[in-house]
Amino acid sequence: MRPPLLDPLFAAATDLPGIGPKVEKLLKGLLGVSERDTRIGDLLFHLPHSIIDRRRQPGIANAPEGAIVTLKVHVDRHQSAPASSRAPYKVLAHDETGEIQLVFFHARRDWLERTIPVGETRYVSGKVEWFNGRAQMVHPDHMVDEDDFATMPLVEPVYPMTAGLSPKTLQKAIGAALTLLPDVPEWLDEAHAAREHWPDFKSALETAHRPDEPGDIAPTAPAICRLAYDEFLASQLALAMVRAHMRTTAGVARTSNGRLKQKILAALPFQLTPGQVQAIADIEGDLSKPERMLRLVQGDVGAGKTLVGLIAMAHVVEAGSQAAMMAPTELLARQHLRSIEPFCEAAGIKARLLTGKAKPAERREILEGLLSGEIDILVGTHALFQAGIEFHDLALAVVDEQHRFGVHQRLALQSKGRGVDVLVMTATPIPRTLVLTYFGDMEVSQLPDKPAGRQPIETRTVSLDRLSDVVDGLRRALNDGQKVYWVCPLVEESEVLDITAAEERHATLAQVFGNAVSLVHGRMSAAEKDAAMDAFKRGETRILVATTVIEVGVDVSDATIIVIEHAERFGLAQLHQLRGRVGRGERASTCLLLYKGPLGETAKARLAIMRETNDGFLIAEEDLRLRGEGEILGTRQSGMPGFRIAQIEAHAALMETARADARLILANDPELEGPRGKALRLLLYIFGRDEAIRLLRAG
Ligand code: ADP
Ligand code: MG
Repeated sequence: MRPPLLDPLFAAATDLPGIGPKVEKLLKGLLGVSERDTRIGDLLFHLPHSIIDRRRQPGIANAPEGAIVTLKVHVDRHQSAPASSRAPYKVLAHDETGEIQLVFFHARRDWLERTIPVGETRYVSGKVEWFNGRAQMVHPDHMVDEDDFATMPLVEPVYPMTAGLSPKTLQKAIGAALTLLPDVPEWLDEAHAAREHWPDFKSALETAHRPDEPGDIAPTAPAICRLAYDEFLASQLALAMVRAHMRTTAGVARTSNGRLKQKILAALPFQLTPGQVQAIADIEGDLSKPERMLRLVQGDVGAGKTLVGLIAMAHVVEAGSQAAMMAPTELLARQHLRSIEPFCEAAGIKARLLTGKAKPAERREILEGLLSGEIDILVGTHALFQAGIEFHDLALAVVDEQHRFGVHQRLALQSKGRGVDVLVMTATPIPRTLVLTYFGDMEVSQLPDKPAGRQPIETRTVSLDRLSDVVDGLRRALNDGQKVYWVCPLVEESEVLDITAAEERHATLAQVFGNAVSLVHGRMSAAEKDAAMDAFKRGETRILVATTVIEVGVDVSDATIIVIEHAERFGLAQLHQLRGRVGRGERASTCLLLYKGPLGETAKARLAIMRETNDGFLIAEEDLRLRGEGEILGTRQSGMPGFRIAQIEAHAALMETARADARLILANDPELEGPRGKALRLLLYIFGRDEAIRLLRAG
């Protein structure tokens, strides 16, 4: 049970002033909250990315051109433009040093007359511009009287925003949320916190939202470091608890002499890459040992991870047990089954697919086959973790293409078999430090090399204005027997709009290419998706229009062109993933990034990087760098998915400390029962790592 002390943090954000259902929906997108309502705590962890410094009060005459200043002025005169003219509304004011014009476009006169009445003194803050020796301030950010000025923050936090949400609404809500923040007992080692000059948790959050100095919100500022450390400690502690728990359930040595593997290899039309050979050797070593395996196979898109997973599964099947392979989407799960099926047949392994869409009779039959041990390999989505699915003897879980294999999933897996070994496969080039963050202590195998004979993908950027040229190019490509993916843009905050965009593009392309064009998107039924993918794979259709459902894993090895529409809206990692859908065969491939100008600096940089390199690691690094530089709009992207405050470059070192700290904590107080232990439980709740608490005897 969550301690009631924390209730205010878990209360709905709609309890705050100015947050109605509509704003809450915007907040959800902004804060990355998907499967639940936005909480007050979510807002508190939405930290400003910069500040506007309004402390400069030089007087009108000394205000530098273009600088943000705060001025105490006497209001002299309102001067409205004739209704017919488009000239702005002006308010003339002065101080002892000079005169200034406050300029308003589309002004609401009555409001201005109330806000800055003639004859009164007002504090105005904004950017001063000089024209022919006259000072101007267009739309001051603040216009307040003496009383309000006393409470107005002169160092104003600027938050990452989303379209449709006003900064004032957000600031106000966060201000109100701060007043609800409870006092919590200290969970850090006091000596450690003192040494680092870290404030307590509550003060740290207050400082982060109400900085006195620009430096207060720098990633290296004590308050921010403290919060980043808290976040790391919560995650490291949870992982350490799971690990400690897993250790108490012993692993099983699974023996095989490679008979099934040999059959699979004999059926392959190609040689394993050296990376695959090494990864398989690593895995066989792990599986043969009595300890539980927890291994990550990391390889760029197209490196051939699925096959590695299959051979690992064959190992435990030969040892008389079962394996499960899990993909993030049903589409991918189906595809996995299809790609391993021929080899399973060759080796006499029985593999089945279970998705939410299975008919009751089929589902029953599969569940029986699992329980009896007749089915060797089950392929599905993460729904396989759910209750109601029981194995005869599950020995290995292969988890593909995802980062969310967290505490929760691990616990669910525990109950599915005896000492289940785990293999996670990812195309995300995660640096070593981050591997620890995501997965705890995992062994890592790399697939550094692509299969032989692959040709580099040529990437070009093309303005959307030249769409008709692109279509002409596709016509030539189709005549030449090629296959094309056409990826439609993510429309912000709306899956429905995505789909409309994809449907429209499908329609326009179908006008040109007839029924050579098919469509696949997330709202289609599994059967429809399947049919579309199948037709494309077999070559009945030659252009597949898709939303980003094809982002990960989809494998049609003779597709040679991918067109990404509105490429400027995608992140680098996503573009790289998408591009990885081509270049899987022997033929040279092309990636066309269609963009709509004018491009912002970041978008320009992203597209340039895509043109320059095919190297996933390099792209990941550039991605971090670009995100680090931050965009004024959009979510604060720390580059550490799953973390709201911690940032890679600034805080990586803290994570190592948090890891050591977590181990020490559990060594001293494994059940988190002492005073610090109890405080740490609060920490786990605050950062959403409380699943781990269930592992405690006293939990
Ligand atoms: P990813 O690592 O992106 O998951 P896949 O496992 O989907 O990659 O493999 C991509 C393609 O490469 C598949 O068509 C697969 O059959 C093929 N492949 C895998 N290993 C090799 C290899 N050693 N040589 C040639 N092709 C391979
Ligand atoms: Mg894959």
